[in-house]
Amino acid sequence: MTDEELNALTRSLPPVDLVQARRRAEEEYFATWEPSIVPMPDFVPGGAVRFSCPRGCGWFHDENPGLDAAMQPYRLVVPLDPTSEDITAAINREASTRARAQQERITTAIVEHDQQAHSRSLA
Ligand SMILES: [Zn+2]
Repeated sequence: MTDEELNALTRSLPPVDLVQARRRAEEEYFATWEPSIVPMPDFVPGGAVRFSCPRGCGWFHDENPGLDAAMQPYRLVVPLDPTSEDITAAINREASTRARAQQERITTAIVEHDQQAHSRSLA
């Protein structure tokens, strides 16, 4: 599907009830919410999102969402004759996959740092 075809399809879709869509997204978010060790990030110049060590030692892990978006091809898998629900579901699947991968990357970096820098050897 070309960009023009996708734009034409988007224009042909019925208007979205934003209040209902927001309510549904919140319900889905809270239904799947899990506690996390990932701290609130700081936003640093250049577009990086910085996750500092929760123990305050000065270590940090940077994520660059703009660079990730530029480096990773954005592919939506939809049926040959997609409905608006198919397209919405495909966009949500892609966003969820990327969010999970980012969450795992950040969590892994923090856990590895914590084990290397803050674990005491009993030997
Ligand atoms: Zn640390």
